[in-house]
Amino acid sequence: MCYISTRGSAPELDFAGAMMTGLARDGGLYIPREVPRMDRAAIAALAGLSYEETCLRVIRPFVGDTFAEAELRALIEAAYRGFGHAARAPLVQIGANHFLLELFHGPTLAFKDFAMALIGQMMQAVLARSGQRITIVGATSGDTGSAAIEAFRGLANVDVFILFPHGRVSEVQRRQMTTPTEDNVHAIALDGDFDDCQARLKDMFNDHAFRDEVGLAGVNSINWARVMAQIVYYFTAAVSLGAPHRKVNFTVPTGNFGDIFAGYIAREMGLPIDRLVIATNQNDILHRTLASGAHVLGRVTPSISPSMDIQVSSNFERVLFDAMGRDGAALSARMAALGRDGGFSLSAAELAFLRGIFDSGRADEAETRATIAATRAATGELLCPHSAVGVHVAASHQGAQPMVTLATAHPAKFPDAVEAATGIRPVLPERMAALFDRPERVTGVANDLGALEALVRARRRT
Ligand SMILES: *Cc1c(COP(=O)(O)O)cnc(C)c1O
Repeated sequence: MCYISTRGSAPELDFAGAMMTGLARDGGLYIPREVPRMDRAAIAALAGLSYEETCLRVIRPFVGDTFAEAELRALIEAAYRGFGHAARAPLVQIGANHFLLELFHGPTLAFKDFAMALIGQMMQAVLARSGQRITIVGATSGDTGSAAIEAFRGLANVDVFILFPHGRVSEVQRRQMTTPTEDNVHAIALDGDFDDCQARLKDMFNDHAFRDEVGLAGVNSINWARVMAQIVYYFTAAVSLGAPHRKVNFTVPTGNFGDIFAGYIAREMGLPIDRLVIATNQNDILHRTLASGAHVLGRVTPSISPSMDIQVSSNFERVLFDAMGRDGAALSARMAALGRDGGFSLSAAELAFLRGIFDSGRADEAETRATIAATRAATGELLCPHSAVGVHVAASHQGAQPMVTLATAHPAKFPDAVEAATGIRPVLPERMAALFDRPERVTGVANDLGALEALVRARRRT
């Protein structure tokens, strides 16, 4: 399997190369040169298989020669062993023909665990072969950092540093980052906001001497291996609801476009998905893009669904690449315009391409709260605010086919918002009850590149 960059001028890589590189050297994102297809018989044969076995069959062609089948199977099993539900991604019915895909049974209670747990195992396996070591540095507004620390803790060839904005993540998110005791993981409270964390991270990657010295690597959501891991639950959900004999629609709470892009790839592979519905909160750049054809950056407005508070939606570039006929040079010019002018307009053909597959909608703060309350009253389910954005948008896109809304986080990860909407304070799953008793380990650091680099140099194992 060969991977190419969306900007057309970075070297082509195999799966291991794309996973270890993350962002392509020309600034683009890696994508398979050809998406492998699964025919009806192969999809029908997934019925009744375990999550792990489905995963193996779905991702095998993307992985190519990087792992032999037996090794890949072992990595998948290790990745999902720590999940708190036998189905890994169970479906729950919340209305006539409306289902929730619960993606919050992983160790840090958000869907990010599905990708991070697997990429942790796969990276460690690739590094162990060569004896190479890497230093992963990531910036987080909460969910990605906790999932990364959980996935990489204790791994021999990886050191992990996660920057989070001091005082701006929820207590559950912070404790998930600060309570692991392994000496290869480090939670760093940066004196600044999330944008500062991302800016310093970028500075570190642009300091090429430092980058080479510590073997810097990234696991943010543009990493192809993360997208790949997320394709799997579209298959398990659709097959449970009758695919390949019946079409299914999905509504996806969306920020960086990683999760819904995995659904797009599942559809390209042949899974009978009819519509993919983009659900945004009040930070609705993607909804406005679908509605008007103009992709115009605004300012981020904080919301009760913070993991979707985003303007620059990195993975949107991947679908744009297809909408533009896979013309890397033209896409590079577009992305330059976005940086220079703060936006660009889609051509009629590009907009038609996107509208042929995607619908979109938004939920403001009041609609999000009302959906949490109404869903609780009607079904007994407590939704996290991100999932509630999805359920709100799904309601206006429900047709004759089954609709699956992705429930992206556990309500107990956002207890204040859920309690404000319902009067009920969601409780953590029992296996996590000790989170509030464990001692925390965190290092404060100034919003300063030199201080950060010194910290990484001093702490990483050599
Ligand atoms: C990351 C995240 C999202 C947004 O997913 P994208 O892949 O960035 O579109 C939605 N909900 C939760 C809880 C998240 O952590």
